Amino acid sequence: MRKIPLYEKGGIINESGGEYCTVRLRIPAGLITVDQMEGIVRIARKFNTEVHLTTRQTLELVHVLPASLDLLAEDLAANGTPVGAEKAEIVNITACPGTNRCRFAMIDSISLARTLDEKFFGKEMPVKFRIAVSSCPNSCVSERLNEIGITGVVRPYRVPGTCTGCGTCVQYCREKAIAIKNGQIKMDEERCVHCGMCIHSCPFHIIKAEPPAYHITIGGRRGRHPRVGYHVVTVKSPETVVKVIEMVVQWVYRKAWSDSLLPDQLETLDFESFKNELVAGLDENEIVTGY
Ligand code: SF4
Ligand code: SF4
Ligand code: SF4
Repeated sequence: MRKIPLYEKGGIINESGGEYCTVRLRIPAGLITVDQMEGIVRIARKFNTEVHLTTRQTLELVHVLPASLDLLAEDLAANGTPVGAEKAEIVNITACPGTNRCRFAMIDSISLARTLDEKFFGKEMPVKFRIAVSSCPNSCVSERLNEIGITGVVRPYRVPGTCTGCGTCVQYCREKAIAIKNGQIKMDEERCVHCGMCIHSCPFHIIKAEPPAYHITIGGRRGRHPRVGYHVVTVKSPETVVKVIEMVVQWVYRKAWSDSLLPDQLETLDFESFKNELVAGLDENEIVTGY
């Protein structure tokens, strides 16, 4: 089998002018250690490059001479920040800080992004394929504008107890999904985005939360015609998220073609039938309905 030269792989981008290339790194969730950061500085100095921060939470070394690529790639791999992906393949997986740091988080987005990176990063696909994870519907990494977006969600519910009609939860809900009728709260499921903001607001603890869940969308995109992805399914565990993504990746790999973006192909690919098949193939105890 032909050994693919480094410059033909994803992650190596020809710069305008043709003399230099840019090298994109693989940094899942945009997190690196201080030692890795020092290593990147050392490598950038050694190869006389500048460093660019990208929108997909990775770094690029710019103005690299193609003749240095092999040595540069070896140094990057030894640093734990190897050459990334950019072409028709699964590219750097992004994630918000999640339960690691953010008080609004409902899921561990960073662990999930790392698991997805290990399983799927760099897989060749007919189309460029981006995956992003946000731990709540504030969607700090705009995950629903990716080929696959995973959002942490939670459903609030009212438990028996005395609602004083104080209106604190109403103030907390930015979606106007809670109203007070006859001194009692009424929740509007249509308006609720499952952000969980109301849950800790009640001084009498009568709004509780169902377990957090993973809301999965497919076919979003940024660019000149942005589009929010379509909801596929909401599931209970990161293991089932991985299973769903495996099914989506296989389906896209088999069915999609290479001259247009995935979101433009969904209708022709009969996404609705695939979605029904996918949901039917999952353990029904892992599916959360009503999202
Ligand atoms: S998406 Fe939510 S959990 Fe993630 S950083 Fe933004 S506010 Fe925090
Ligand atoms: S979960 Fe969020 S959107 Fe839903 S009722 Fe509570 S605050 Fe409002
Ligand atoms: S915060 Fe609690 S007591 Fe006040 S209106 Fe909401 S549910 Fe009722």
